[in-house]
Amino acid sequence: MHCLFCFAVDTKVIDSRLVVEGTQVRRRRQCVICNERFTTFEVAEFILPRVIKSNDMRESFNEDKLRSGLIKALEKRPIKSNDIDMAINNIKFNLCAIGECEVPSQIIGNLVMDVLKKLDKVAYIRFASVYRSFEDIREFGEEIARLQD
Ligand SMILES: [Zn+2]
Repeated sequence: MHCLFCFAVDTKVIDSRLVVEGTQVRRRRQCVICNERFTTFEVAEFILPRVIKSNDMRESFNEDKLRSGLIKALEKRPIKSNDIDMAINNIKFNLCAIGECEVPSQIIGNLVMDVLKKLDKVAYIRFASVYRSFEDIREFGEEIARLQD
């Protein structure tokens, strides 16, 4: 990696540690020419499949949309931001693990439901009620009964 300060071609890594629960590597680097130090972060990149919408249109996987859906479901619930990040990583990991270059949007919805079911039952019911468009109180009751089993 080039030096940020003098643009020398060579820098050496003087320290390397895992951060954010092992999902990032933080490296301290030092320039071999000017001796200035700087930090870099290394994050693994998922190559996510494209999403097939119900109308058969394709679109890129949208992490912001996923995040805002989760945050909406988890509003005013005792869930840490870190747990939301972990949930998103979990969903992304599972999407990659499918190994297809395109997946139907329902698969993402189902992964979100799986994650929320483990994370917070109230958020799960909120999300399920919108996602599965519960028609009436009876469907709510049935879903809650299933959760209690
Ligand atoms: Zn330098």
